[in-house]
Amino acid sequence: MMIFAELHENASEESVEELEDLIDSIGGLASQLPPPNRTILRVTGVTREALEPLRQHSAVARWLDIDGTHPLVSRGRFESERTVCIGGAEFGGIEFGVIAGPCSVESRDQLLAAAKAVLSAGAVALRGGAYKPRTSPYDFQGLGPQGIALLNHARNALNVPVVTEAMAPAEVEPMYEYIDVYQVGARNMQNYALLKALAVQDKPVLLKRGPGSTLKEWLLAAEYIVSGGNENVILCERGIRSYETANRYTLDLAGAKLAQQKTWLPVIVDPSHATGRPELIPAMSYASLAAGLDGLIVEVHPKPTEALSDGPQALVPQQFEEMMTQLRAIAPAVGRSLRPPQRDVANLSAREIS
Ligand code: PEP
Ligand code: MN
Repeated sequence: MMIFAELHENASEESVEELEDLIDSIGGLASQLPPPNRTILRVTGVTREALEPLRQHSAVARWLDIDGTHPLVSRGRFESERTVCIGGAEFGGIEFGVIAGPCSVESRDQLLAAAKAVLSAGAVALRGGAYKPRTSPYDFQGLGPQGIALLNHARNALNVPVVTEAMAPAEVEPMYEYIDVYQVGARNMQNYALLKALAVQDKPVLLKRGPGSTLKEWLLAAEYIVSGGNENVILCERGIRSYETANRYTLDLAGAKLAQQKTWLPVIVDPSHATGRPELIPAMSYASLAAGLDGLIVEVHPKPTEALSDGPQALVPQQFEEMMTQLRAIAPAVGRSLRPPQRDVANLSAREIS
């Protein structure tokens, strides 16, 4: 059992100090979580019974007595649904948000072609990696700062939020101003220095599940970000490693659903890395929507055979568009909606987006 006191926003310093002293006087310890969670006190060293006389204290808006190891992301913390916004899109509500784009940012033309294709099909955000976690050191490692600049160009020219991976704490601050969402890649789910760096800034974090991580470890990684001060976390299931090698990974759809049931965080699915197979991506995407998950992140490349990373799993624009049409047809049957296609974007000329 973990006990937290969520304080009134306008609680005076004196009343908070008084509460801390009272907790101290019964042998407990009250520690404040870092901003912007400064309104939460974590109480340790006392039983629930011993705290009873303090339950009505004027500084406290409500007490949270939460079972389990990840109290701040647990569903029980909030009575109502919570959402995380990326640009104008809400994840965790009625809307099923689709993020799409190339695995890596490769060039201006490649990124803009992919961006136009995915936006015109109804994606709500553009993905693209500038810092790439590659299994081999000899593989393309990403364009780095130049890739971030290209993402920022697409972001401004097409008015689209961009999602990109940060692999190290030192990368977080330099890209802050140019991006909208930080992706924590599967390999970095337990990079605690990175999670802590992302906790003390306010942009949303797309937290992928490590291929060898349990659900509990995944949710604890989210707890790092939330307890450190950033509540804008979206979970992403991208396949785990099993004995099966026919697919790139094994998509744990039930695990994704369980994560959604256990927490108040939106949960999306990455069918591209989970399967590694374009022919399976639509089916797994429809299943994710039908399962009530909150969205997708999908790799789309204008010319997969020329891609510098993950080409074999990329959808071409036409496949992506067909999939989006089908998702839009399924959505009403399961009480969800998808953003309509932005057909005008497809017709923008190079001059208009330069
Ligand atoms: C990616 O999104 O391109 C990526 C490397 O994903 P993951 O971290 O899930 O392997
Ligand atoms: Mn990839």
